[in-house]
Amino acid sequence: MTTDTSKPRIIKFYETTLRDGEQTPGVNYFPEEKLAIARALADMGFDTLDCGFPVSSPGEFEAVRLIASKIENAEVCAIGRANKGDIDAAWEAVKIAAKPAIQPFVSVSPLHRKVKLGKTREEVLEMARVAVAHARTYTENVDFALEDTTRTEHDFILEVCAAILKEGVRFVTLCDTVGYALPWEFGKLVADVKKEFPGIHISAHCHDDLGFAVANALEGLRNGAERVDTCINGLGERAGNAATEEVVMALRTRSADLGMDVRVDTAKIIPTSHLVSKLSGMQVQWTKAIVGQNAFAHGGGIHQDGVLKDARTYEIMTPESIGLTSADRRMYVGKLSGRAALDAQMRELGYQLEKEQLNHAFDMAKLLLGKKRVLEEMDLRYIAQTAMSPAIVE
Ligand code: MN
Repeated sequence: MTTDTSKPRIIKFYETTLRDGEQTPGVNYFPEEKLAIARALADMGFDTLDCGFPVSSPGEFEAVRLIASKIENAEVCAIGRANKGDIDAAWEAVKIAAKPAIQPFVSVSPLHRKVKLGKTREEVLEMARVAVAHARTYTENVDFALEDTTRTEHDFILEVCAAILKEGVRFVTLCDTVGYALPWEFGKLVADVKKEFPGIHISAHCHDDLGFAVANALEGLRNGAERVDTCINGLGERAGNAATEEVVMALRTRSADLGMDVRVDTAKIIPTSHLVSKLSGMQVQWTKAIVGQNAFAHGGGIHQDGVLKDARTYEIMTPESIGLTSADRRMYVGKLSGRAALDAQMRELGYQLEKEQLNHAFDMAKLLLGKKRVLEEMDLRYIAQTAMSPAIVE
C-alpha cells in the first residue's frame, strides 16, 4: 500500500469493551456501569459501540436498551446469532437509539461448522444470507461477523461475503476469533477479500492468543480494512482483543508512516482505562503498552539521565497525549538507577542535596537496595535527612 502523508485515512472503530470485553471471564457489568463506560467511549469519539448480546439475558437486554436510550454521539450496536430470535432481540434493544446498528454472526470454519453448529457449508451460507436479509428489514445498519474466519476455507469466505453483500450488508467483520493468524496472513486475507469485492467495507476483529492482536489489526487496516474491533485495556475472551488504546496510539504516533489516523480524543485514554479497570475488576499489567503504570516510568540510570535531560530520548509519546501529566512520569529509584534520578526524586520530596550529600545518599540507597526491593518515601526521607546531617557525613 502506498502512503499519503498529506491526507491520512481516518480509521473507524467498533469498540467492543461492552460486549467482547464483558466476555472476559470474571467481568460482569451492571446496567448503570455499562452506561458509564458507554458514555466514556462515546465521548472519546468511537464510531460504533458494541454494547452486548441482548438475547443472552434479561439484564443484558435492559443494559443495551438503557445505553440505546441515552447515547446519541455514537452508534449503538447489539449482536446476535444468525437466527430470527436473536436478531429480533438485538433490534428490539437498540431500536430506540439515535444511531442503532445490529450485527448478527455465524461461525464459518469447518471445525465450528461441524462441532458447534452441526451444519454443512451450504446450510451455514444460507444462515448468513437469511440473517442479513432479516436484519435488513429493520435497518440499513447491518454488519455481519464471520466467526473464526482465519481457520476457514478461502473459497467459502468469498462465498459468504458474496451472499451477504447481495443482501445489503454494511460492514463485513473478518474475525481472528482464536488469535491464530500471523500478521502477514491476516493482511493477505483482508487484501484478498478486498480484491474480490472492491466495494466491501471490512472490519478487523483480532484476538491476542499469540500476542498479535494489534499487529494483525494494523495489517488488516493497512490492507484495506476500514474499521477495527477493539477493547479498552485489551479485555475480551481468553487473552483478549486488540487493545483500543494500543491501536489508537499506534495509528496516531505512526500516522505519517501508516497514512492513517484516528478521530479520537486520546487525552481521555487514561480516565477511560481507569474506569474500565475499576468496573471490570481487571487490573492492568504494569508493563502494559500505553496504560500500564510503568508506561512512563524509568528504571535504568542511563535512561533516567536521558529522560531528565529530554524525555524524547526514551519516550515516543507524551504523557499529556493520553491524559497524564509530566508529574505522572516516574523515576524509579532502584538498584540500577543513577544519581540523576535520585537527585530528581529528592528534589520532588523537598530536599536540595549538595554534591557530596548526594553521593552519600546514593551510597546509602544502593546499600539499602541490597536488602529490600523498593525504596519507599520514608526510606528516601530517612536517607536525605541522614545525608544532610553533618554529624553523620564525615
Ligand atoms: Mn471476539
